[in-house]
Amino acid sequence: MTFAAQILTLYPEMFPGPLGTSLAGRALAEGTWSCDPIQIRDFATDKHRSVDDTPAGGGAGMVLKPDVIASAVDHALARQPDSPVLAMTPRGRPLTQQRVRELAAGPGITLLCGRFEGFDERIFEGRPIEPVSIGDFILSGGETAAIIVLDACIRLLPGVMGAASSGDDESFETGLLEYPHYTRPQLWEGRAIPEVLRSGDHAKIAAWRKQRAEEDTRLRRPDLWERYVGARDQSPSGARQKKKD
Ligand code: SAH
Repeated sequence: MTFAAQILTLYPEMFPGPLGTSLAGRALAEGTWSCDPIQIRDFATDKHRSVDDTPAGGGAGMVLKPDVIASAVDHALARQPDSPVLAMTPRGRPLTQQRVRELAAGPGITLLCGRFEGFDERIFEGRPIEPVSIGDFILSGGETAAIIVLDACIRLLPGVMGAASSGDDESFETGLLEYPHYTRPQLWEGRAIPEVLRSGDHAKIAAWRKQRAEEDTRLRRPDLWERYVGARDQSPSGARQKKKD
């Protein structure tokens, strides 16, 4: 089954962009996913084909008009009624690997890309749209955010990553950052690969990796660590299950 991606954007030429190369590019060519950019401006109704207007209450920049956005979203929903519509906005809920997994397991996705100061807020009441942020920083437009959301989903589609890795070990899948990796040369600029990784003792290696995953998460991402410890202490068996032994 093809994972169908629709992108509502003022810059359709930005897609598939980087997703046309490497793993995602091959998956696109093979029909594992499809990429349908839709020009928001096609839904403008005035003779200037305007999509934005000045902000109510004053201030800099322009705001995307709710009537035009609603028509574009309605068009996308008519084509793919079962795909969730995600609007790219720094005011949205931060994207998580768990949400990415849910999206990738579904029939597809419709991504709404903002520009200028973003969307008229009423669009979120008037249509079933999930506001999503990719992090606490501001991009110039939603297209690069949409590419990130798509990339995260596509790599999880069946067959895209190949049999070598299911991705179960990656950072966040366990609630922790992943352990650090090393490869040859054994000695690089005077720095050696940790001895345990050359021991061949799989139990010892697993224990070392778990310890490093926990330590690095605690030091680098106290927010993740707190949640992880909370879940672990609340339900030890649940935490162990989540970690997928
Ligand atoms: N004035 C807005 C930012 C607008 S940036 C605010 O302060 O909230 C222009 C567009 O870029 C947004 O509409 C959104 O589509 C996209 N964008 C910027 N940063 C983003 C982020 N962190 N996550 C998702 N989309 C983002």
